[in-house]
Amino acid sequence: MTWWEELIEKYPILLRDEMGCPPYLEVSEGWRGILEELLPKLEEGRLLLPKDRQNCHIVQLKEKFGGLRVYLSDGNDPMDLAILEAEKKAIKTCEFCGEPGTLRNRGWWKVRCHTCQTQYEQEMKGFCHD
Ligand SMILES: [Zn+2]
Repeated sequence: MTWWEELIEKYPILLRDEMGCPPYLEVSEGWRGILEELLPKLEEGRLLLPKDRQNCHIVQLKEKFGGLRVYLSDGNDPMDLAILEAEKKAIKTCEFCGEPGTLRNRGWWKVRCHTCQTQYEQEMKGFCHD
């Protein structure tokens, strides 16, 4: 089982839509720790919603312009705040290994640490030389 499947099993309401489908994971493993911190907070927030709105779930979870984006079907202030915190952390965390990183624009925006950036640039050179 992947770490993402484990989270789906742990948060069956947050991570499934009305059709029973989990959101597609569109971020890399470096942000795993951030998501593992975020989900219990969202779960807590979800339970504060009125009973008829507690089927609130994550519609989309992705990387956009290098940052983390989490979209909910419903929500409240504690849930929005938890997402804001996670997004702030993600912009300083390498999306590939979880080490401190900075937002870089080489080809497209990604948060990478120095090691992952160097490796990426070497791989790119490999594609380009003639
Ligand atoms: Zn890295």
